[in-house]
Amino acid sequence: MKSTACKAGAAKNCIKLYAPRYYRAFSCIADRCRHSCCIGWEIDVDEQTLEIYRSLSDGYGKTVAESIDEEDVPHFRLAVGDRCPHLDEQGLCRIIKSMGEGYLCEICREHPRFYHDTPRGKEVGVGMACEEAARLILQSEDFDSFVEIGAVEGRALRGRRGFDALAVRAELYACLSDRSRPYAERLHQISSVYGVSPASHTDAAWRKLLDGLEYLDEAHRWLFCCYTSLPNVPAAIEEPLCRALAYFIFRHCSATRDADAFRESLGFALFCERLIASVAAEKRITDTESLSEVARVISEELEYSEENTDTIKLAFFE
Ligand code: SF4
Repeated sequence: MKSTACKAGAAKNCIKLYAPRYYRAFSCIADRCRHSCCIGWEIDVDEQTLEIYRSLSDGYGKTVAESIDEEDVPHFRLAVGDRCPHLDEQGLCRIIKSMGEGYLCEICREHPRFYHDTPRGKEVGVGMACEEAARLILQSEDFDSFVEIGAVEGRALRGRRGFDALAVRAELYACLSDRSRPYAERLHQISSVYGVSPASHTDAAWRKLLDGLEYLDEAHRWLFCCYTSLPNVPAAIEEPLCRALAYFIFRHCSATRDADAFRESLGFALFCERLIASVAAEKRITDTESLSEVARVISEELEYSEENTDTIKLAFFE
């Protein structure tokens, strides 16, 4: 976590921590996870935990200490199949089993949580690249409801020239949560009021851009070729799509300091939603469970790659 919980008497730099209401329902499903974050990703070990690991000389602690590659950024040396060396055959973490959760490094302790600063304090959410988080996000109707869950050290974000990202986000959420109107109409309103729409580029231009991105799984380069700004999706998945869009807005727009940065991030959010809708239409998806797997893949490939995210945002730069 970028910030630590406030200690008693440290009120000076304490800011409130907020989360979407659904956040507290999140819990890692560990051995039941089909796309474990302990496979395929390099896991960096933070300085503080590294010091602790270095001091371990017996039992499983010795194995942990010996599993770290300290070249460049210290990280666990991956095992066969790009698995974390501490992931056992059942999909459980040997560090937790042998030593307890207190011995996890920061990334393992926090994933899939992310934090950002806003004008009213810090916010925490769960990233959609985690399959359980994706399921929770797409099933939670109350995306526009936030709760205070504590206080952390930090400073509230100051927008430039009085810009308040949360006020703009509240307007967007008010539009998105108006279920008395068709989803397409809500999307259209957002695009026209904020002057940003994926349809400002042709489908062919977007497909070319998608073809030029980096991918974890090459099969997704071909899958994303089905992109269109006007996919034909069944009504049953419109509200889950709306919740996916609300998530992208939450994650990418909330910490922006001015209207231009907000607009580019909103463009990214709208584009990701259209890509999820396009893949869903292509695969004839009609249920939230299957849609959440599409959302997970798109989150993993696009928003968990800084390079890909920047490339897409740049397409909305004017
Ligand atoms: S991807 Fe999510 S559910 Fe799966 S192991 Fe990681 S944190 Fe747990």
